[in-house]
Amino acid sequence: MTAYDPDNIFAKILRDEIPSTRVFEDDETLAFMDIMPRADGHLLVIPKTPCRNVLDASPDQLAAVIRTVQKLGRAVMTAFDADGVTVQQFNEAAGGQEVFHLHFHVLPRHEDVSLRPPGKMGDFDVIAEHAEKIRAALS
Ligand code: 5GP
Repeated sequence: MTAYDPDNIFAKILRDEIPSTRVFEDDETLAFMDIMPRADGHLLVIPKTPCRNVLDASPDQLAAVIRTVQKLGRAVMTAFDADGVTVQQFNEAAGGQEVFHLHFHVLPRHEDVSLRPPGKMGDFDVIAEHAEKIRAALS
């Protein structure tokens, strides 16, 4: 498998070299808003330590990330009065992965509402409002 690239975009977010809208962090994980949200409240959860994806992650990295996914999944249920949550995760380019730092997508879902198509930049102010709702649900 290809080696971890410390200059991937999520590594830069972790180092604060590029901006992100953070909603939660602990010692091991960070959750921040996806800039191309496929649903209102679409966020990403990553480990703070390097790994490309599930295939090279340690059990400790996976456990920490899933704990945060569960916490944020519950928070978006409350924040968006959601009917469910989709958790997505892709491994390597052929598996649909575009950014090579392990991440889980957390997408609040409502009955009969489809995900929006991928690749469309969100409105920064709207994303900031959604982040605030998630932070409020966490507190
Ligand atoms: P995946 O690797 O799971 O296919 O998708 C990567 C995800 O990262 C996409 O949903 C995309 O919108 C998101 N993304 C790509 N670049 C950035 C960025 O610079 N900041 C944030 N917050 N999200 C990003």
